Amino acid sequence: MENRGRRLAPAGGVLASLPMRGNTALKEGWSLPDWLDGRSIVLVGLMGAGKTSIGRRLAARLGLPFRDADAEIELAAGCTIAELFTRFGEREFRDGERRVIRRLLAGDQIVLATGGGAFMDAETRATMRRDAVSIWLRCRLPTLLRRVAGRTHRPLLNGDDPAQVLERLMVARHPIYAEADIIVDCGDDSPDATTTQVLDALLAHRPPRRLSLALSSASYDVVVGEGLIERAGALLAPVLPQKRAVVVTDATVAPLHLPALLRGLEACAFESRTITVPPGETSKKLATYETVVDQLLEGGIERRSAVIALGGGVVGDLAGFAAATTLRGLPFVQVPTTLLSQVDSSVGGKTGINTRHGKNLLGAFHQPHMVLADTGALATLPLRELRAGYAEIVKAGLIGDAAFFAWCEQHGGAVVGGNRAAQADAVMRACAFKAQVVGDDEREEKPNDGRALLNLGHTFGHALEAELGYGTLLHGEAVAIGLGLAFRLSARLGLCSGEDAERVVRHVAAVGLPAELHQLNRRLSAETLVSHMRRDKKMRDGRLTFVLARGIGRAFTERDVATEAVVALLREEGCTA
Ligand code: NAD
Ligand code: MG
Repeated sequence: MENRGRRLAPAGGVLASLPMRGNTALKEGWSLPDWLDGRSIVLVGLMGAGKTSIGRRLAARLGLPFRDADAEIELAAGCTIAELFTRFGEREFRDGERRVIRRLLAGDQIVLATGGGAFMDAETRATMRRDAVSIWLRCRLPTLLRRVAGRTHRPLLNGDDPAQVLERLMVARHPIYAEADIIVDCGDDSPDATTTQVLDALLAHRPPRRLSLALSSASYDVVVGEGLIERAGALLAPVLPQKRAVVVTDATVAPLHLPALLRGLEACAFESRTITVPPGETSKKLATYETVVDQLLEGGIERRSAVIALGGGVVGDLAGFAAATTLRGLPFVQVPTTLLSQVDSSVGGKTGINTRHGKNLLGAFHQPHMVLADTGALATLPLRELRAGYAEIVKAGLIGDAAFFAWCEQHGGAVVGGNRAAQADAVMRACAFKAQVVGDDEREEKPNDGRALLNLGHTFGHALEAELGYGTLLHGEAVAIGLGLAFRLSARLGLCSGEDAERVVRHVAAVGLPAELHQLNRRLSAETLVSHMRRDKKMRDGRLTFVLARGIGRAFTERDVATEAVVALLREEGCTA
């Protein structure tokens, strides 16, 4: 990203000579966080919250210019805000305010205090999201009352009882202020102490990362970071047509993460209700689908209400299919809580359920309005599930990004070991990879090099799942073994080096995933496995199709692999004839 504004001088610059107060975050060698990237800092909140007095102090400590939107408006209009209100009305005033704020934020980096109503304007909020970081100075009523007492230049007070007016404003505005990037609870401390608090919050803030998908049917962001579930209302409000949602989740995830999601929605005044299904693959069936649709309709869902899937790939596929079909399509949001769903199933718009004829045979493409991949949710995921999801991450590197595979070799241990930063990196890179593949082939129409490539390791994997019985082996575990087999098959066919294949097997084993068939401790017949492969729905004309590789990061689809080569490989791996 380009640096859009000026940065603070680092060590020994202006800041080093500023007075240090209390536990202020200001230290020598400190500079503005990189993620600000030259964008301005905007303070929002109700009248009396201290936007101007804190803003001025904050600007001084940061060495940035301070601007007060109200003062700028008065300057531009040549009269006071109160006069503007009486002369032209609130609407005119808001139009001017919107223009002034847009102009101020388009310029150099500043600290900007805004009037209490500015953030209520959707367009102004969009400007701030783009050009600034917003900080809500949240105060309790008694604090605000003390501060506004005796002031006469507040047009909204209008001579009415301040307590009543403020209470009314709180009800109306708090759910909107809650969309601010950072929220600071301000008490009755001195302005200097509060400024320190704001500064600390600014420095501690880690904005979520975003990946934008632009598909022909829809554009949406995959947002990756910690604590996103708790912030769901703030993140979703700008992209959903209304603040009404039905959350679909499973009975395992509900006690773990549903309360935070409902809190997050409530904070922004979303009306929501919940549908809970049993956990596990068996919920991806017609009967459960029917229950979900019934409950959506019984609750009187409207065209513009959203369905939010909170859970793993099962909930995502099921809720997504219900959203795709109910009332011919409802807005949909994915909040994936397994590693597999964060890196794979939540991105790309495939939804569906199983039938007795096979997996995922009834479905639809239905792109979400947003994907919130909260890496914090992974903390409660059993290690075995975490590892299974990791297999799909490794797969991304093996298909098309050798450098990413090398990254996996270095950091895979940290990812399955629970390191949040490594997990966020892995999710971002794997999603970026999937986004690129999906963007190229949204509806899986390319026979060879589009979404079909995502099946690397899956021909073997599906055969193993079918043979061992679904559920014995997790999908990702089956894929993990499949990745090694696909590379060994490629080596056997002279496409890649044996060393590449061994590198794959070594890495899969190193993170604790099953890497080779003998680890399954089962007598497996090569012929039986091959017959499962022939029944795979991705097969055409009965020929064996595999994703093979000319090396790490160089996968391609081969539609006509000789059965003998596959059987010979499987026997070498310990299968019987
Ligand atoms: P899952 O949804 O069944 O989740 C696995 C288990 O983990 C479940 O028991 C669930 O209750 C539990 N769980 C989920 N989040 C948790 C958390 N944070 N803490 C503790 N427990 C948690 O399975 P999955 O592996 O996420 O997804 C597999 C499904 O995804 C399959 O049905 C597969 O077909 C589908 N899938 C779809 C796509 C797609 O593009 N749509 C791609 C790949 C896979
Ligand atoms: Mg898969």
